[in-house]
Amino acid sequence: MTLNHRSDRRMFLGSAGMLAGMMLNARRIFGLPAVVAPASPVPEKLIGLGATGNVYAELGLTTVINAHGTMTYLGGSLARPEVEAVMALAGQHFVPIVDLEVAAGKRICELLKLPADYDAIVTCGAAAGMQTGLSGILTGSNPKFIEQLPDLTGMKSEVIIQKSHRNPFDHQLRATGAKLVVVESRDDVKKAINPQTAMMHFSNFANASGLIKVDEWVKLAHENQIPAFIDAAADTPPVSNLWDYAKMGYDLIAFSGGKAIRGPQCAGLLLGKKDLIANALLNSCPHEDTIGRPMKVGKEEIVGMVKALECYLNEDHAALDKEWWSRLDFISREIAAVPGVTTSFDVPDIANHVPHMNIFWDPRKVSLTPREAASLLRKADPSIVLGSSEHGLGMNSFMLQPGEEKIIAAQLVKLFKSHAA
Ligand SMILES: *Cc1c(COP(=O)(O)O)cnc(C)c1O
Repeated sequence: MTLNHRSDRRMFLGSAGMLAGMMLNARRIFGLPAVVAPASPVPEKLIGLGATGNVYAELGLTTVINAHGTMTYLGGSLARPEVEAVMALAGQHFVPIVDLEVAAGKRICELLKLPADYDAIVTCGAAAGMQTGLSGILTGSNPKFIEQLPDLTGMKSEVIIQKSHRNPFDHQLRATGAKLVVVESRDDVKKAINPQTAMMHFSNFANASGLIKVDEWVKLAHENQIPAFIDAAADTPPVSNLWDYAKMGYDLIAFSGGKAIRGPQCAGLLLGKKDLIANALLNSCPHEDTIGRPMKVGKEEIVGMVKALECYLNEDHAALDKEWWSRLDFISREIAAVPGVTTSFDVPDIANHVPHMNIFWDPRKVSLTPREAASLLRKADPSIVLGSSEHGLGMNSFMLQPGEEKIIAAQLVKLFKSHAA
């Protein structure tokens, strides 16, 4: 692992330097206007932090094999090398950030072929998209209101949400000062709508658990001239979700950039109707005296997010899916050879729509609780993180690096055999 990290790092430094060189050459050959040479060329060799290629080990930390998915607490996903390369290029010049957001939004809309009345900005994540998106709805372009948030005097103040759609991320909605009005039935929605209603919020992963489904929710909102927001943070794959909710009519749509799209960890997409996106940007960094000022997204992340999206759209998604299945199949074959151990598979309909594997064992054959098993794997070398419930272990393979499935299989077999009852 250490070796891999080291060579990746070299490749990245090499490719960033090479790319910059290629661009300078292109400018000479095609007579493009000369750009000022980067102030600080990417160093070929690092001294001090980073010298070994594993910054985490240098800081005294142990990296983990991530069989749990795109978890922010583990660092989300690993950005593509192309993303790291353009981020390095982006870091070599100053640029007006508001103009960059507008230009990035234009490119994002082109890449996604969004309807003509849609625009986009890069936020520092889906959670930030929820907060600034709602802020823009509440304040419009009124500078006094923008400064005033989260004091909603003079503004609308309520957001309607289904009971089963409540989740920790609605803190970002409440942070604007808005009050959540919780509903269950269609009748509840009709009763809840009043002149103070600012927005109707939909948590896409909860589609199955709410009475009102994704397409009906946006219709209900529009029948009452209320903008509808959809939190689709972890909802790629499938890639088509990136445009389907705009086509469905959702006014604002938030995606994480640092999950399966493999953009910068501190990036996300906010897509939506042009005026709402403009107002979200007015409530965002770099504008000061705004509620969004602390949710800074840098020039590097903005450019990196656009690149990640470009790469994601060009990816062979069927081949990726096949690779994810084959990793799980490999682990399953190895561990199911241990007496008492069985596996099962599933793919969630929405959110983290990737192959998952559950691992069960007969407690009469393996004397270990799932919680103990997860904890021992976490403490093993290399350390492995996966999920556990009272029934067994749960894992997925879309964040694994090549070959890590072999390490996981070997560790699991060793663990089960050493606890044979
Ligand atoms: C991950 C996630 C978020 C937060 O996204 P960030 O990009 O980390 O800000 C919000 N909602 C849901 C459902 C998520 O899964």
